[in-house]
Amino acid sequence: MKNQAAVAAIDVGGTKIAGGVVDAQGRILARAEIPTAPESGYSDAFTRLKAMLRSVLDESGRSVDGIGVGSTGPIDPETGVYGDVGTLPGWQGSPLAADLEQEFGVSVAVENDADAAALGEAAWGAGQGARSLLYVTISTGIGVGIILNGRLYRGAGGAHPEIGHQVIDASGPACYCKANGCWESLASGPAMEAWMRANAPAGQYQEGAITARHICDLARRGYGVALAAVRREAHYLGLGLANLVTIFCPDVIALGGGMMLSADLFLPGALEVVQRVCTQVPAENTSIVLAGLGRDTGLLGAACAWLHRKVRK
Ligand SMILES: [Zn+2]
Repeated sequence: MKNQAAVAAIDVGGTKIAGGVVDAQGRILARAEIPTAPESGYSDAFTRLKAMLRSVLDESGRSVDGIGVGSTGPIDPETGVYGDVGTLPGWQGSPLAADLEQEFGVSVAVENDADAAALGEAAWGAGQGARSLLYVTISTGIGVGIILNGRLYRGAGGAHPEIGHQVIDASGPACYCKANGCWESLASGPAMEAWMRANAPAGQYQEGAITARHICDLARRGYGVALAAVRREAHYLGLGLANLVTIFCPDVIALGGGMMLSADLFLPGALEVVQRVCTQVPAENTSIVLAGLGRDTGLLGAACAWLHRKVRK
């Protein structure tokens, strides 16, 4: 029996780390998940990650040609070393790629998670056959991965462009990036929550943890302020997407992330904004669609990080 090769995939987020084995057709053969527990430190997380990966490799019964990693960043795609990651405090300087290579004896490719997801969507998801694709993830932040002419776009020195911090309204709320009114500060989940706290009637939703999902539920029940929050989301999501259409004229923009679970509430409005604003480019040539890989985006994207770099030269 031929032991067909596959790729190990690791998806590192601020709250969980997923691991899996993916074959060359994009099928997940085995998977597992552990908490990231970033406060316990990188060494502790790496020890648990090793054990998880060994167990999914055993379960799949396959050997792997390499390991692909998609991680919350910044992480250097060339060296696989962590930068200063807000959700992984204390991990700066940790050499994830080198540690995996040493432990498992195969080559490792690391990408920022939005870039990995963009590769996954282009190979197996909403962007199959597209030459240019932007993957936009909208959740606690906004991240974008860019595929141009079938290749992952990198900035100078390998930098990952931070399109979530493009300024949309210079008089908007202050962001940790030091700009006012960047896309993330206006259209992310926390942006919707902050607006709700500031605009709900006195005594309602100012205190405690109102989540974007809860606001969307309230909007479905016709609650006025929540409906306004959803209209605002459509407006700012649409303006950011309009900029992407005007600047890149891509074949596909694939939308993922937790906020998109409520896309039916605000995506139609966002698309109206794109149609209204994008008068200088053939916007109708760009398909703006929901990402196709769903809950598998992280693992399949991580597998593609390795396949894209090592196989599709
Ligand atoms: Zn910002």
